[in-house]
Amino acid sequence: MEFPKKLTVIQSNIKNGEYTLPELVDSYLNEIEKTSDLNIYLEVWKDEALEKAEQIQKKINANTAGPLAGMVVGLKDNICFVGHKVSAASKILEGFESVYSSTVVERLLEADALFIGRLNCDEFAMGSSNEKSAYGPVKNPHDPTCVPGGSSGGSAAAVAANTCLVSLGSDTGGSIRQPASFCGVFGLKPTYGTISRHGLIAYASSMDQIGPFANSVEDMSAVLSVVAGQDEFDSTLSSNKLDLAAASKKHKIAYLQECFDAEGLDLEVKTAHLNKIEELKAAGHTVEPVSFPYLDQLVPCYNVLSNAEASSNLSRFDGMRYGYRSENAVDLDTTYTKSRSEGFGTEVKRRIMLGTFVLSAGYYDAYYSKAQKVRRLIQDKTFEILSEYDFILTPTTPHTAFKIGSHGNDPIAMYLEDIFTVQANLAGVPGVSIPLFTHSNGMPFGLQLIAHKFEEGKLLQFAEELAD
Ligand code: GLN
Repeated sequence: MEFPKKLTVIQSNIKNGEYTLPELVDSYLNEIEKTSDLNIYLEVWKDEALEKAEQIQKKINANTAGPLAGMVVGLKDNICFVGHKVSAASKILEGFESVYSSTVVERLLEADALFIGRLNCDEFAMGSSNEKSAYGPVKNPHDPTCVPGGSSGGSAAAVAANTCLVSLGSDTGGSIRQPASFCGVFGLKPTYGTISRHGLIAYASSMDQIGPFANSVEDMSAVLSVVAGQDEFDSTLSSNKLDLAAASKKHKIAYLQECFDAEGLDLEVKTAHLNKIEELKAAGHTVEPVSFPYLDQLVPCYNVLSNAEASSNLSRFDGMRYGYRSENAVDLDTTYTKSRSEGFGTEVKRRIMLGTFVLSAGYYDAYYSKAQKVRRLIQDKTFEILSEYDFILTPTTPHTAFKIGSHGNDPIAMYLEDIFTVQANLAGVPGVSIPLFTHSNGMPFGLQLIAHKFEEGKLLQFAEELAD
C-alpha cells in the first residue's frame, strides 16, 4: 500500500485504524532496504524505531500523543542524538557516540516524532554533491548516475525516496536548499537564530542553521513550530517569536537581474522561472527585476568566512579527546598532526588550511576582515531589497543535478554550485526551495524564495500557494 506523504493525513488514517504506526515504520524500512544502493543511510535504527512506534501507537490509542505522533524523521549525520553514533561523515569521528542530544532531537522526541536513521552527508557538511563523504557518495533517487546535491544529500534523498516523512539537514551555504532542488522536495533554511545549534557539529557558526526537508510546506511548518525558539544552550537564538500564521495576499516580489543573466544558468531553468514570474504577475502580484551588484562576490566572501570559522571549529578534533587517533603517532605533536592528516578528508583539510591562512597574521586584513566588510555590504543590500519587497525570487540552483564525478577535482566548479544559495546565509535571512519544475532531462529543480528575518510565516504561506 502507498502511504500518504503528509503528517495530518497520516495522523487521521492512524486514528481511523486504516493502518498502525508500526506498519508505517515497517513500510519506510522496506523502502530503505529497496533503495540501499543509493547509500542514503549510514545507519538504520530499525529495532529502536519499531519499538518506539509501538509506544507512540499506544499513546495515540489513549489520546495522549504529542503533536508530531506519526512523523518519521531521518537525521543528518552531524546532529547529535544521545547514545547514537554521529560522525559528520568523517573518518575522524568513526565510531563516536553522542553523549548528549541536540535540542532539535529533544524537542522532536518530546512531540512524539520518531527517528529512523542516520543520513549520509558531505564530510563536516562541506560540499555540494555528497561526493565528499568518507562513506561514499549518495545517489540521486531520480537518477542514480547523478548527485543528490549537498551537503545534506542523504537528507534530501531520504525524503525523495520515501524512506521517511521528513528529515533534518543543516544549511551553512545552501546545504538544505540545493539538495532539495536536486531531489525534488521542499527544503527550508530558517532565519539565523531561529533553531538551536546545540548539538549540531559546527562548521561555520555564524551561518549554520538546522532545517527540515519535506514533501509539503505543512510538514516543514509542523517541524519548525516544535523545534524553533530559545534554548539556554545557544545564546545566538533570538527572542523573537516566530509567527507561522500568515494570510494570503498580493505580494511585491523582487527577482535578481544578475541571477537571471548569470553565465552558466541553464536555459530551461531560466525560462521556467521567467514563465513563473509572468504567472505571478497575471495572478496580481507585483514582480520586478532588481539589481544585486554583488553576485560575483557571494561565493568568495562565503568561502573566506566559512573556511576561517571551520579552521577554528575543527581544531577540537585533535586525536586526544575523541575520535580517531593515529597509530603512527609517537609524541604529542605527531598525535595532532598524524591523527588530523589521516582522519580528515581532502576537502576538509583544504578548507582548514585556507581558513588558517586567511586568519593568519599578515593576511587577516587582506582576507578575513575584508570578507567581513563585503558580508556587511551583501547584508545591507539584501535588507534594503527586503524592506521594499516581500520576497526575493531566484532559481535555487543554476541547473539540475549533475553527474557523479563530473566535477572531478575542480573545487572552484563545485563552489560555484552555491552561487544562488549563500546570499541567505551571509545575510542571515530565511530561504526555501520549492520543488516546482521538471527539466526535459527528467530531473527536478526548485525555485528559491527568500524573505526578511523571522518572516517564516509569510514565506511558508506563499511557498504553499506557489506549490498548489
Ligand atoms: N555547498 C556549500 C559548501 O560546500 C554549503 C555547505 C553547507 O551549507 N553546509 O560549503
